[in-house]
Amino acid sequence: MKLLKKLIFPLAIFIGLGIFLIIIFPAVTRPGNNLFLVIFGLMILSLLLEKLTSKLEYPYLLRDDFLFPAELSFYLTLKHTVSDWALICPKVNLFDLFYVKYRDQKRFWKYISKINRKHVDFLLCDPKTAKPLLGIELDDKSHERSDRKVRDELVDNVFSAANLPLARIPVKHSYSTSELESLLRQHIASNMDNTPNQAVTIENENTPPHCPKCGSKMVLRKAKTGSNQGEQFWGCPDYPRCRGIIKIE
Ligand SMILES: [Zn+2]
Repeated sequence: MKLLKKLIFPLAIFIGLGIFLIIIFPAVTRPGNNLFLVIFGLMILSLLLEKLTSKLEYPYLLRDDFLFPAELSFYLTLKHTVSDWALICPKVNLFDLFYVKYRDQKRFWKYISKINRKHVDFLLCDPKTAKPLLGIELDDKSHERSDRKVRDELVDNVFSAANLPLARIPVKHSYSTSELESLLRQHIASNMDNTPNQAVTIENENTPPHCPKCGSKMVLRKAKTGSNQGEQFWGCPDYPRCRGIIKIE
């Protein structure tokens, strides 16, 4: 039906123009007299007209509930609490935050589809580098539902696998900023001890080592800029999503 609707308009123009030409210039449309050229010209013209007159639809409206009242209230407290030591990003899609280490399409999309369209309520990042520091989930009564529990468990495990801490904070009418700050800092500090050292030095440059961050087999690269320009190093094949490097002495 949609295809028919799309076709009717250019077809009507096509026929209309054809009749117009036959009436006005009968000599041109006589067989053997550049007939193919005329048909071709008409087709191009009708397609152009169709493109010019067709309107693309954008059925989008701005949502009034970008942040729910409980989220907004928490956000305002959070803003006051972290002031300038962290950047607050609300509603971050897990797809923008994490990636899948597998390279074959089937496994890649299998695991991406588990996290795509799932959001973490707030993400705290380093204000200078935008490096993610901590995820925050605001837990209201809906988190007691069985479907939410399954979703929450998945999100917890994803954060844990990617070594990013996640704080679950129960929804309240008001929050103590000092308590909140110490809780957030505690979560971030506890994770600092688990972060693997990114710059490792090895002596053997013949066998590719595994990335200290993600475990992928590394590839030999040459520094293009900076003080080490021209020097070789082991880089992660998933760069820039993973910036794990190993220096070669
Ligand atoms: Zn890596």
